[in-house]
Amino acid sequence: MAIVKNTLLEAYPCPLCGSEDRRLLFVVKGFTLVRCRSCTLVYVNPRIRNEKIYDIYSDHYFKSNESGYDNYELAAHLRVRTFRRWYQEIKPYLLIQGGPALDIGCAAGYFLDILREEGWNAEGIELDPEMRAQVRAKGFSVSDKPIEHFDGDKRYDLITLFDVLEHLPKLKNDARTLAGLLRDKGTIALVTPDFDSLQRKLLGKRWFQLKPTEHIHYFTRGTLRRLAEESGLKVVHTVSSGQYADLSFLHNRLVRYGFPHLAAAFKSLIKAAGLSKMMWYADTGSMLALLQKKN
Ligand SMILES: [Zn+2]
Repeated sequence: MAIVKNTLLEAYPCPLCGSEDRRLLFVVKGFTLVRCRSCTLVYVNPRIRNEKIYDIYSDHYFKSNESGYDNYELAAHLRVRTFRRWYQEIKPYLLIQGGPALDIGCAAGYFLDILREEGWNAEGIELDPEMRAQVRAKGFSVSDKPIEHFDGDKRYDLITLFDVLEHLPKLKNDARTLAGLLRDKGTIALVTPDFDSLQRKLLGKRWFQLKPTEHIHYFTRGTLRRLAEESGLKVVHTVSSGQYADLSFLHNRLVRYGFPHLAAAFKSLIKAAGLSKMMWYADTGSMLALLQKKN
């Protein structure tokens, strides 16, 4: 990524407990991942400075091949199906159905569509202007403010952050802001990479979730619980989580993980067997967690 220069990097204390005591885990794409010796949170340090970090998301994030999402639109049908599944996993734990809802990092608004279908009064936050235009065109209200600058008196019965928490530069501050945006019987539903997942352990440094310019914190169930509790929240449910994938998605992953020959053989096999429309729910080493107010 062109914007990564040493002058843009800064060392920060542990974003969860404030400790400066950490040990090196490994280096990914020139960035060091460290584990806090006090609270065990894994984070990138040093990392892109807070003042620069939002620039990543406001300019063609969804079209970049180096960061963000490859071909977000091409995979739209997979995302919609994934969001439907996640909503069905969240639904049994909701204390209120159909009030005001906020989807943070709503991208093209596919989850907002589902919330609307399910009777919620949904709105979004999205930093990418092209995505915001798409969301507005569907009649949703969408803010361009990151959580730390998000204001107003409105409170929500459901707040969703799918693949967002690991990006937030002001983690504890943002977690408290989120708790403050929640109504008493509200739920926060989030999906984030799980550093304790089997996939992370098997793939090590090659785990696709390790994107150190944007994924700056890596949670486990334990560190997520601590973040929740220090923000006046409790974790009411956690489950391992994935996304719908098709065979071309898997092909791209094989290329990315450095198996080009296997990928090419795989592609021929897909064609020969007529399997190009098949899709299934694939583990991504993520977790889905539901948070509610402590009392
Ligand atoms: Zn810590």
